[in-house]
Amino acid sequence: MTNHRFRVSPLPPDIVRQARRSRTDAFGNDLVERRDDDRHQCRSCLRLTEPGEPYLALAHRPFPTAHPFAETGPIYVHARACAPYSDSHEYPAKFPRQEVVLRAYGSNDEITDARFVGERRVEEVIGELLDDGRNAYLHARNSTYGCFMFRIDRAADGAEPAR
Ligand SMILES: [Zn+2]
Repeated sequence: MTNHRFRVSPLPPDIVRQARRSRTDAFGNDLVERRDDDRHQCRSCLRLTEPGEPYLALAHRPFPTAHPFAETGPIYVHARACAPYSDSHEYPAKFPRQEVVLRAYGSNDEITDARFVGERRVEEVIGELLDDGRNAYLHARNSTYGCFMFRIDRAADGAEPAR
């Protein structure tokens, strides 16, 4: 279901390209190609890797500048080139919908709110947080491992939210 209230952003393509090309991340870590029998969340295409498919683990800080609230943590991307996520009004279909924490940040990038999604519809919780004017944008994270998944902004098309 297309949702015109929010916009999902994958990892910026330049960060992904740089990681694949240089095999280092922004923090100087060497990136080795990994493979195992699990499926992992690629933060570029926002799909899952296939079992045995090579992937890279890199450190990422999903904020423009360093400050006390700007956490750095591990994320995965396909080792091969993949198309950055473009269904931006859709919650990524293969990503978790319940074991998710949504963290809200103000325009100064300091945290303003956080919700565990659990049994609720993830789109509904996203909508509630974006209805609150204190919240400039959201980060979706895995609730158990705590890893960053993607950023969510208010849709920029100016459409009044359909209720
Ligand atoms: Zn990918």
